[in-house]
Amino acid sequence: MKTVWEKYDDSKLQQVFKFSDSYKEFLDEGKTERECVKKAIELAKERGFKDLASVTELKANDKVYVNNRGKNICLFVIGEKDVVDGMNILGAHIDSPRVDLKPNPVYESEGLCLLDTHYYGGIKKYQWVAHPMALHGVVCKKDGTTVEVKIGDDANDPVIGFTDLLIHLSQDQMKKPGATVVEGEDLNVLCGSYPAKGEKDEKDLVKANILKILKDKYDIEEDDFLSAELSIVPAGKARDYGLDSSMVMAYGHDDRVCAYTSLMAILDTDKPERTSCCILVDKEEVGSQGNTGMQSRFFENAVAEVISKTGVYDDMKLRLTLRNSRMLSSDVSAGFDPNYPAVFEPKNAAFLGRGLCFNKYTGSRGKSGCNDANAEFVAKVRETMDKNDVDFQFAELGKVDQGGGGTIAYILANLDMDVIDAGVAVLNMHACYEIASKADIYEAYRGYMAFLKDMK
Ligand code: MN
Ligand code: MN
Repeated sequence: MKTVWEKYDDSKLQQVFKFSDSYKEFLDEGKTERECVKKAIELAKERGFKDLASVTELKANDKVYVNNRGKNICLFVIGEKDVVDGMNILGAHIDSPRVDLKPNPVYESEGLCLLDTHYYGGIKKYQWVAHPMALHGVVCKKDGTTVEVKIGDDANDPVIGFTDLLIHLSQDQMKKPGATVVEGEDLNVLCGSYPAKGEKDEKDLVKANILKILKDKYDIEEDDFLSAELSIVPAGKARDYGLDSSMVMAYGHDDRVCAYTSLMAILDTDKPERTSCCILVDKEEVGSQGNTGMQSRFFENAVAEVISKTGVYDDMKLRLTLRNSRMLSSDVSAGFDPNYPAVFEPKNAAFLGRGLCFNKYTGSRGKSGCNDANAEFVAKVRETMDKNDVDFQFAELGKVDQGGGGTIAYILANLDMDVIDAGVAVLNMHACYEIASKADIYEAYRGYMAFLKDMK
C-alpha cells in the first residue's frame, strides 16, 4: 500500500517528526478545553495576535482572537479582500471524552475516600478503569476568584483513578455485555485512605483529611465543588508509538490533533487573500450545545464584531460573509484497524499514513444527521489539495449500519456556507490513549494551510 511516508526525503522527515514533538507538548499542556484555550492564546500572542476586544479598527493582515469564556476561541487573520467576500474557516473541537466530578462528589466508604463522577462523551467505561488518572479543572469561589487544579501530571504528583474488580472474583462481571461490565454509577475515583487526627468516634476522618489537603493546597471548601468544573483525565504525557516512532499515542487526539494542526495553520498564515479563521470549540462530544459549543451564537457575534471593526456593520454584511465562507470541519476519522476488519469497508475506509482524511458525509443509519458536502464544493477542495501536493483520502466511518457519528459540520452549514468534514484517522478513538500517524498529522497541517491560502 502506498503511504504518505514515501514522499518525504530525510530533511522533510525531520520536519514531520519535529512537528509532532510540538504537538505532543500541546497535548501535555492541554488536557481540558480551558487548558487548550489558554495554550492557544499564549501561542497566538507570540505570533502577534491581539484580543479583538482591545482593537478598535481592523485592516488587512491584522491578527485577532476572541476568547469565549475561557473554553472556546476563534482566531482571525484579516484578508486583502473585503471580509464580506467570505472567509476560509478551519474548525475543530478541544473538548475530549473524560469523566467529570459531580457537584457533590466527596464521600467516605470503609475507610477509603472516593469522588463520585458522571462521564462526559461516549466512552467504553471498561477502558477507563485501572489506569493512572489526573484531576484537572477549575474551582470558582464565591469571592470571584478561580482556582486552577492540576494534580497527577507532574512527576512528583500522586495519581488517582478508578479501580476494577480482580479477575479472581469476576465470574459474573465477565458474563455481562461490554456496555455494563463497568457501570457509569460505579466510576468512583479512589483518592484517599489516610485519616485525619480526630476524636475517637468521629466519622469520615479520611474524607476530612482529603478536604484538608485541598484546603491547604487550593484554599477551597467542600461547598466549592458546587461551582467547579473538575475532570478526571488519563495521567501522563503523550508518547511516540511504534518501534519506529512513526505514531503518537496520547489522550485527546480527538480532536486536539485537528485543533492543533488548524491552530498552527492559522498562526502560520500571513497576508491571506480571503480572511482566514480558525474556530476551536467546546461541547462537541456532548452535542455542541451550550454557550461554548458550536450551536451558540458566539461565532456569529465574533464575525459581526470583526465586520464592524473592518468598516460599517449591517446585518446583510454578516449574512453575506457567512454565505460566502468555506469551511473544513475538522475531526478525527476511524482508522482502519487490522484487528477489527469486519466493521470497515476497505475501499471507503481511512488508513493511517495515507494523509488528510475527508468525509463527504458522516451520520448513521442512512446518513441520518449528516452534512453531505456539495459535490461542486468537494471538487474545489480536491483541486486546492492537489495544487498544494497535499496527500489525502476519502472515507466513511465504517460499514453501512455498523454505527456512526456526527461533527460540527452541519451547524456551520446551517449558516449557509459550504462545509466538508476533514481530519486525521486515529485508532482507539475515545479510549484513554488514542493513536495517530505523524505523517497524517503533518499532512493535515499542510492541508489546512492550503485551504486557508488557496480556497476560493
Ligand atoms: Mn471528535
Ligand atoms: Mn469524539
